[in-house]
Amino acid sequence: MELYSGHINKLISELANLPGIGEKSAQRLAFHLINMPEAKVKKLAETIVDAKEHVCYCKECFTLTDGEVCPVCANERRDHGTIMVVETPRDLAAYEKTGKYRGVYHVLHGAISPMLGIGPNEIKLKELIARLEGDVEEVIIATNSSLEGETTAMYISKLIKPTGIKVTRIASGVPVGGDIEYIDEVTLLRALEGRIEM
Ligand code: ZN
Repeated sequence: MELYSGHINKLISELANLPGIGEKSAQRLAFHLINMPEAKVKKLAETIVDAKEHVCYCKECFTLTDGEVCPVCANERRDHGTIMVVETPRDLAAYEKTGKYRGVYHVLHGAISPMLGIGPNEIKLKELIARLEGDVEEVIIATNSSLEGETTAMYISKLIKPTGIKVTRIASGVPVGGDIEYIDEVTLLRALEGRIEM
């Protein structure tokens, strides 16, 4: 027996497809949406479609942004010779929040994971190597300290070493297996300052 009407069921199942949303949360959200004023629901729907249509990859660092180049890459006061490699735009945001990092970023959009069949070509690695033809002094690898993050760090380090560009890895302090986006700013800064050459 169907508990709810077809439209509600459809809404619940769409919401339940989102990451971190289980069946119960999906039901709660669905009923919340149904009870919202129609104008607000429309605004929310338009905001989602708008974001999807207008957000794209920064052509330099591949983070998500509205224009061709993100605000960090467009900022001439940033040190464009230091590139911090992160897995996701959320990791970039975590480091940006510290307000202390003056370099630029490179967002891989994932990490190498033989288990999940994600190879070097599935992440923005070629794009990173292409950037190294410019004036780059240091590449700071700030991938997560998970198995995938470490595998990716080793892989990148091996690729860059022959170019003579300095390659560093953020220090421990970032807990093993820890996701960068959930780590507090003090710990992130300590990890950055204590980075070691690979
Ligand atoms: Zn950028």
